Amino acid sequence: MLAGYLLRPGTVELREVPVPEPAQGEVLVKIKAALTCGTDLKAFLRGHPMIPMPGVFGHEFSGVIAATGKDVRRFRAGDEVMAVHSAPCLTCGYCRKKLYNLCENIMSSKVMGAFAEYILLPPHIVKQNLFHKPGRLGFAEAALLEPLSCVVHGMSGLHIGRRDKALIIGTGPIGLLHLLLVKQKGAEAMIAGRGWERLETAKKLGADRIVQASELKHSLEEFTGGLGADFVFECTGQLEVWEASVNYARRGGTVILFGGVKKDTVATYDTYRLHYDELTLKGTFHFTPRDVKAAYGLLKTPLNLSPLISGKYSLEELPVALDRLSKGDGIKYALIP
Ligand SMILES: [Zn+2]
Ligand SMILES: [Zn+2]
Repeated sequence: MLAGYLLRPGTVELREVPVPEPAQGEVLVKIKAALTCGTDLKAFLRGHPMIPMPGVFGHEFSGVIAATGKDVRRFRAGDEVMAVHSAPCLTCGYCRKKLYNLCENIMSSKVMGAFAEYILLPPHIVKQNLFHKPGRLGFAEAALLEPLSCVVHGMSGLHIGRRDKALIIGTGPIGLLHLLLVKQKGAEAMIAGRGWERLETAKKLGADRIVQASELKHSLEEFTGGLGADFVFECTGQLEVWEASVNYARRGGTVILFGGVKKDTVATYDTYRLHYDELTLKGTFHFTPRDVKAAYGLLKTPLNLSPLISGKYSLEELPVALDRLSKGDGIKYALIP
């Protein structure tokens, strides 16, 4: 089979490798669609601590089961499926505390290699995070299960409702997924970004107000009558935005810090705002199986997902898709082997 390898930053190679065979509890999926993600782009541009090189990559996918190992009962060859690429170990200290997203083994036992013709899923993923794809959901849209699970996790426990006003900073795929969920919860949403193309996409996805990042402060004042946003979602992974985010929240508001920043980065905050204005700053990482189930439930509802997928390419065209993304052209591309 053909598999995309990231050799070093900027260099992708398609290699012919043997199709893996599923052992006990494992499932072999023939990929029908794999999506590019911000993490893939980061790895392609400058390397990524979670993506060893040289190695296979790509982690958002859906497909059809090609073969199952012994003792797999819920799935059989021919089933259309969607999955995420990780699952908790259920035995470490964090799993015992039910903090499954923080599982000590979740990153080391994840599966990469969705930019390929087949992917082999280990038993812990098959048991917890593999699902039958609803018939009406396209394969590319079904592959959004992973990023959507991350966004669902960040919003878990927030109680966003009709009277709320949310500010989303960042118009990448993660910012736009936040927008979809905020609108689904009935809140009003303003989204800030650079360039008009993605902001126009945000408009199509239901944003109540779109604004250039440079106009954010003034526009937010108008949008919230000077109070500030009930919820601020940082979806850029830039230090300046992490720091500025607290300025956009109303008193008693919540700031979700979603975008990962380089290790050892230190952000500075105004203690007066945090204390007297009683702000909540919430970090968020990855997802639990419960979040994945919730995201799967959402994907069964009619969500307007197609604007998130900017185009389709064959697997051989993976470098083209990554090149376009690195120029800020498009949101997500689907690779169809
Ligand atoms: Zn992803
Ligand atoms: Zn664990």
